[in-house]
Amino acid sequence: MDIDVRRVLDSLGDPMLALDRSARVLHANAGLKELLGWSRLELLGRPVSKVLPGGLPELSWGNPPPPSMARQPFRTSALRRDGRPREVEVRLSPWPGGENEGLLIVSLRSLEAQVELERQLRLSQRVHVLDAALTQVFSSALDEEEAAYAILRACGQMEGWVLGSYWRLERGDGVLVPLTVWASDGGLGDFVHVTLQSTFAPPTGLPGQAWTRREPIWSQDVTQDVRFLRMEPAARHGLHGALFLPVQGGRHVHGVMELFSREPREDREADVTLATALGFHFGRFLDQLHHMEAEHTRVNGLRALWDSDLLGLFISDVHGRILEANPTLLRMLGYSREDVREERLTWSLLTPPRERIVTESTLRRLRADGVFQSHEGTLLRKNDSGMPVLLGSANLDGGRVVTFALDLSDWKPTESSPPQETDARLHSLIAQAPVVLFALDRDGLLTLSEGHALESLGLKPGQSVGMSVFDLYRTEPTVLQAVRQALAGEEFFSKILLSNGLMYETHWVPLHDAEGQPAGTLGLALDVTQREHEARWRAQLFEEAEEARAEAERAVRLRDEFLSVASHELKTPLTSLSLQLHTLLKRAKQSERPEDAETAQRLEKAQRQSHKLARMMDELLDISRLAEGRLRLELSNVDLVQVVREVLERFQEEAQRTCTHLELRADEQIVGRWDRTKLEQVVTNLVSNALKYGAGAPVEVQVHSSGAMALLEVTDHGIGISPQDLGRIFGKFERAVPVRQYGGFGLGLYIVRQLVEALGGGVDAESTPGSGSTFHIVLPLAGPETRLPPPPAQADLH
Ligand code: ADP
Repeated sequence: MDIDVRRVLDSLGDPMLALDRSARVLHANAGLKELLGWSRLELLGRPVSKVLPGGLPELSWGNPPPPSMARQPFRTSALRRDGRPREVEVRLSPWPGGENEGLLIVSLRSLEAQVELERQLRLSQRVHVLDAALTQVFSSALDEEEAAYAILRACGQMEGWVLGSYWRLERGDGVLVPLTVWASDGGLGDFVHVTLQSTFAPPTGLPGQAWTRREPIWSQDVTQDVRFLRMEPAARHGLHGALFLPVQGGRHVHGVMELFSREPREDREADVTLATALGFHFGRFLDQLHHMEAEHTRVNGLRALWDSDLLGLFISDVHGRILEANPTLLRMLGYSREDVREERLTWSLLTPPRERIVTESTLRRLRADGVFQSHEGTLLRKNDSGMPVLLGSANLDGGRVVTFALDLSDWKPTESSPPQETDARLHSLIAQAPVVLFALDRDGLLTLSEGHALESLGLKPGQSVGMSVFDLYRTEPTVLQAVRQALAGEEFFSKILLSNGLMYETHWVPLHDAEGQPAGTLGLALDVTQREHEARWRAQLFEEAEEARAEAERAVRLRDEFLSVASHELKTPLTSLSLQLHTLLKRAKQSERPEDAETAQRLEKAQRQSHKLARMMDELLDISRLAEGRLRLELSNVDLVQVVREVLERFQEEAQRTCTHLELRADEQIVGRWDRTKLEQVVTNLVSNALKYGAGAPVEVQVHSSGAMALLEVTDHGIGISPQDLGRIFGKFERAVPVRQYGGFGLGLYIVRQLVEALGGGVDAESTPGSGSTFHIVLPLAGPETRLPPPPAQADLH
């Protein structure tokens, strides 16, 4: 074979073979290996039937194949190397002329995707057909047996089954019992007979297994399947393929269907898919059928009862509204048909408050799981008197409930014994207490609701008994959260809850039943709205005050900074102004000219003002230093008496001008370890105040020593200070006089105290308004260091 042929085939991706005239393989390319698994060497020289068992269309190998052949691909089954068949499309082309004339090129194409598609199409077609048949069955069948037979027949005829049976699950006994069998011909009678004799308990036999597994079981050939119990009669009748499918409704299995074919079944997937669909539809149909049957029985039974004059009967909806009532009930309770039509009657209207809880919870249980225990109770007549009755209810559809009431008046006298005295006392106590006392059962139904605080909720005691707290508070998740916590059995806990815009302090105690299981909760709620508001208001005030304080501190800091800068800046020009004034005054005084005498007077006034200004500047400077913690003491031995003398001297002129007598009474000399300038400042401020507020009356200054202390007293007989102001005048910017009458910053005394305390001493004042004040200063002679002597005991400790 020409090397060209091989090269050409290898260069093509499609699976290809080259055959010689006797249809033996000359070459197989990589594509073929990929498709079928055969390698070139395995096929070399082998007949083509090894790959294509169906062979090729008859060819006269002696002649060149007709050119038209290439245009007619055909479908066949190729054999894979692992023995499995594979659908392929084959196209044959003769090698065109030349040395290789007579060679045949076979190209293959996998039809797997197409085959799968066709399979799906066929399956959906089958499902569709079956579905249509089932719809018809379900619309006409009257009962389970009829429906099952029709389904078996439709399915058998369409899907190639020859026999089918339906086993119904007898719920009470828990066994599968044959209900009906369909057979395509009478020849299967024997097998039908055996089938109708058998019952299966789970998980025996294939029907039993399908039931317990709740999924279809497919058997290619039951005569080979050890799980199949009727193997012998099946073999006798030539039954092989089989399918067992559970018929399952929304909740439970209704039964099992089985189908048999004469041929072993081939397409498991299709059979199972169809079976699942069939089981599902039939199951749902049976659900509906059973429901209707039950309803039918109920309605028929009801009708007989409805007309009886023994029982009172009524039908209510989920909301407890009474939709229908029989004449007996209306007569018993004194209501009219009109009352029912107008929907005036409700369960709660007919039930005394104390029994609502019982009624509500039994109705809830009834709706949830259909269980209702008849019980004795009371129904309220229209005239509000109670009638003892035996009550019982049953579920209808749509949440409706039918209730019977049997009048027990003849058997049971109405009990109206007065409550025990203690009960009454307790009750009246709770009724007046500003609380709500409540209890919930395990379902969250109110069994107790008492207390005066109910009023603020717009409720009367007992009014909400029987209602579900989950309904009442459904829009208040925080309340419900506490309820859940309590119902879960959490130990005593307290919680502040917001409800209806009011605030409650709630306390929850778990209740337990005889077995110690959580059985509800007992709760107490106190209306604390007012209290909480006040607390919040107080907190808010406090917060505001704190803010104001912080704000004030900030403002003071700013002002201090400003003062510090301002006083520094002003001090310089002021000093130069003072010097100028001093020079000018000196000149004016020395002058002979009469007009200069007046100038001198004015200059003196100006100088006084400038001194005053300078003092104020000093105050400001001091205060800014104090504020910045920059007060530095220069300590030396200072004679206090001398300092006082000098200061008084400086004030002499001012004193004269205001006709104030300045008197000093002092020891000879009092020396202490102090800062001279600071002492001057202290004395200056006190004397200056005495003159300022002394109303021209004499001012006495006394300086004495007493032990290790020096005492300084400045007394005036002026306006005095009221007792309430005495405490604050040593504070920063504190003043007790109107600005218009007395200028000043309110810093003098503050500075005095700061300086005296810095020197280790203290200051206070006594005063009688209108008759004068005395300021006392005490200073340790030894200076500030002695202020805090170490406690003597401290040494012993070590
Ligand atoms: P200022 O004198 O600048 O107002 P001070 O700190 O020196 O500031 O005094 C604070 C306040 O104490 C004064 O405003 C005044 O009301 C009161 N005060 C001080 N000394 C006397 C005094 N000797 N007699 C009456 N009131 C006084």
